Amino acid sequence: RFDVELVAVTKRYSATTTAVDDISLRIPRGSYCCLLGPSGCGKSTTLRMLAGHESVSEGAILVQDVEITTLPPIQRGTSMMFQDYALFPHLTALENVAFSLKVRKVPKEERLKRAREYLELVQMDNLANRLPNQLSGGQQQRVALARSLITRPKVLLLDEPLSALDPFLRTRMRAELKRIQKELGITFVHVTHSQEEAMALSDMMVVMNDAKIMQAAPAREIFETP
Ligand code: ADP
Ligand code: ADP
Repeated sequence: RFDVELVAVTKRYSATTTAVDDISLRIPRGSYCCLLGPSGCGKSTTLRMLAGHESVSEGAILVQDVEITTLPPIQRGTSMMFQDYALFPHLTALENVAFSLKVRKVPKEERLKRAREYLELVQMDNLANRLPNQLSGGQQQRVALARSLITRPKVLLLDEPLSALDPFLRTRMRAELKRIQKELGITFVHVTHSQEEAMALSDMMVVMNDAKIMQAAPAREIFETP
């Protein structure tokens, strides 16, 4: 069983820019998958096509056996967490997390109850009433994570989620991401240019270069010398 399948997916931005060139990939259910590669190799484009923020030029995308290639973002079973958090500055942590459910017309009491649960999951329930500017970078990131999980996605997409953090927090959040992924049992697809980060997190590692997939395998098979 696969949570994500890309079937011969190509993305052309113009006649001269092919950002993703005929890639195929299957990500097993409940995996922590890292997309690793140098800047400009097509990682973000791949993630944005999964999220529905970018159209596909050719090929198909499936989530849990359902084709989602042309569905709008909120109907795909995916959710995206961005590197710059993008919290609403005038809303508290709790309100920020609950907001995704407001858009989906979930009643207020249910929204706030679930928002508290997800703040607890990211260990931020004690700071629920703070505004974003009263939180550290790492704390804001936990709130952003709760906000992207509260819609109960089948697949969470993370674009360089640790790159804005200092090295100490980066290591801590890395462990947190792994814990939360295992606790929820959903697939995470995490874009990074750091081999160390991908090694530490991946069940499955996908190495991209120049718009192509070079290797897709468990991390140890890719980097262990025989
Ligand atoms: P990565 O995430 O690996 O850094 P990207 O997916 O951002 O790579 O970019 C892959 C290629 O596509 C690069 O050559 C980049 O300049 C180009 N590209 C990315 N986004 C756009 C866009 N919106 N319009 C045109 N070209 C783009
Ligand atoms: P990242 O590598 O994290 O995707 P970038 O700085 O490459 O960040 O891209 C930031 C934004 O600029 C993205 O929305 C991307 O689509 C767009 N972009 C990147 N490269 C190009 C390009 N060559 N032409 C037009 N837009 C681009």
